[in-house]
Amino acid sequence: MAARGSVGVYMHEDCSRHDTGWGHPEHQGRLRAVSAGLERALPDLLPEVRSVAGRHLDPERLALVHEAGMIERVRRGVEAARERGEPIHLEADTVVSAASWDAALAAAGTAAAAARAVLEGRHSNAFCAIRPPGHHATPTESMGFCLFNSVAVAARDVLADGLVERVLIVDWDVHHGNGTQDIFYEDGAVFYLSVHQHPLYPGTGAAEETGAGEGEGTTLNRPMPPGLPRERYVEGLHEAVDQALTRFAPDLLFISCGFDSARSDPLAGFTLEPEDFRAMTVELVRKTRGTTGGRTVSLLEGGYNTERLGDLAAAHVAGLVDAAREEDS
Ligand SMILES: [Zn+2]
Repeated sequence: MAARGSVGVYMHEDCSRHDTGWGHPEHQGRLRAVSAGLERALPDLLPEVRSVAGRHLDPERLALVHEAGMIERVRRGVEAARERGEPIHLEADTVVSAASWDAALAAAGTAAAAARAVLEGRHSNAFCAIRPPGHHATPTESMGFCLFNSVAVAARDVLADGLVERVLIVDWDVHHGNGTQDIFYEDGAVFYLSVHQHPLYPGTGAAEETGAGEGEGTTLNRPMPPGLPRERYVEGLHEAVDQALTRFAPDLLFISCGFDSARSDPLAGFTLEPEDFRAMTVELVRKTRGTTGGRTVSLLEGGYNTERLGDLAAAHVAGLVDAAREEDS
């Protein structure tokens, strides 16, 4: 039986069915690369790692984050793709196929299921190998390869049911998570922290964007230029996390885990290596453990170099295993 000390690795087969076409960077091969990498690393990850099947989100829970009209546009887009028998564009970068509604509900539902499992003590922490990614999806718009904002749905899901009071989302995807920021900009229960490349898509995430109203001071952006030595990005992350923790005591940590901040990603210019993801993971869980008790849920966001994705994901999960072992000792 899974228990604290274990690391849940969550997947749902529907996530692989979201078909954007092989010419699109966010293609079906990404999850294949992630699972192959995890499989290769499995001997080093046992006995902690448990493979768990995710689940679909109840579509009504989307309303915790997204406006009805936006949800309907996704549903209709998927219908149209099904009728035409080929993927269609919702906007410049964002494509849906006949299976995308199921994939998007599987991504958000799997994230929510992992968060509940961690809060119930079924695992120390968890990684969700899901797609489509979510952090660009705003309350009103699907964009930037993202249909629904899975990390935001999972956070609101456990907050709405009173399972936690304060959530920290650390987003190390190389792009700014404009959607996650928008959703929680005036929400003091969720601290959003992002380290991202600037200038780069989507153009938001200036250091001056710090939240508003009840959420004043619970958004923290660390824009950084491309091409720096890798330790500068690691330092930038750690400094930002330390700063966040001086004013916010999270009950639960989410990681918006984009691997496009690794060296040689085709879409960006950060220089991180697999061992950096392992070390950042351990350090982040350590820094937050005082109030979270180590409870951490990581969700795959971007990462487009499929040659490297497997090793990157394996290094990150190895970091989650290291963190779970620290807890045991
Ligand atoms: Zn990204």
